[in-house]
Amino acid sequence: MKNILFLALFLGSQPLFSQEPAAKRITKHINFLASDKMKGRGTGSPENAKAAAYIARHFKKYGLKPLGVKGYYQNFTAKVRRVVVSDSLRETTNVIGFLDNGAPHTIVIGAHYDHLGLGRQGSSLEKQPEGQIHNGADDNASGVAGLLELAQYYAKNKIKEPYNLLFMAFGAEELGLLGSRFFLNNPTIPLEKLNFMICMDMIGRYDPSRGVGVGGYGTSDAWPEIFKGVESSIKFFTDRAGNGGSDNAAFYAKQIPVLFFHTGGHPDYHKPSDDPEKIDAKAEEEILRLEIKLLDRAMQKPKMTFTPVK
Ligand SMILES: [Zn+2]
Repeated sequence: MKNILFLALFLGSQPLFSQEPAAKRITKHINFLASDKMKGRGTGSPENAKAAAYIARHFKKYGLKPLGVKGYYQNFTAKVRRVVVSDSLRETTNVIGFLDNGAPHTIVIGAHYDHLGLGRQGSSLEKQPEGQIHNGADDNASGVAGLLELAQYYAKNKIKEPYNLLFMAFGAEELGLLGSRFFLNNPTIPLEKLNFMICMDMIGRYDPSRGVGVGGYGTSDAWPEIFKGVESSIKFFTDRAGNGGSDNAAFYAKQIPVLFFHTGGHPDYHKPSDDPEKIDAKAEEEILRLEIKLLDRAMQKPKMTFTPVK
């Protein structure tokens, strides 16, 4: 009797596995990717490869189909222009997993996983960056955590959506959107099958006075209808432009509609102090719920057409 009571209490307090986005898992992903051990995930470093392997392992766990060239991996060579050291070529990869719903068209969900490493590849805002670990918790372990949570959600929700979903973790974004551009020039799925692309880059530092920005609202006439009446417990605002900020710009350049989620700049941006303990994982969870609402609405509509934004 005592045991049964204990079991009942245990089951009552512990929610059974849920595919819904969860702050706890978001924190776990970010703590792993942005720990000092990962040395800032600089392109070409062993830690960059370790981050890619972490993402691939989770894609496999969720049951996504590999859609890279070598399993989940689409390897490429990134050119680092002379900044601190001389020009160099570094091997890296995109990590690509496919949720095949047998649908004619596909939606891309993406986030870059690389960051600035030990401050020797340029674009650090620290005065003496060389040798300092640029953890990149917000930029962009937060976006990768979002990518993994959405992948898990759609892979495990037992619903066959009317679109396929292509989950992509891009390499070498910090060196100039190199991973997303490489994919778009060497696609592993015909680009004309793509409906739109959702990009997450820095979604971990929610500021309630600003709200989360959603760029790309002007990249298709379909977006206003999809956003109409959508409610969220977090504050958000839309911005028409889709051609800046992150990998979404590469998709925009190929005339693919985009949305770009971003919680805004902060004093730790591109500095060694962009650390995991500054992340608001609970707010990120709500941002992901908002993304799911928007995705679910967009998936009830026909493939959208691109409109350029002036
Ligand atoms: Zn970034």
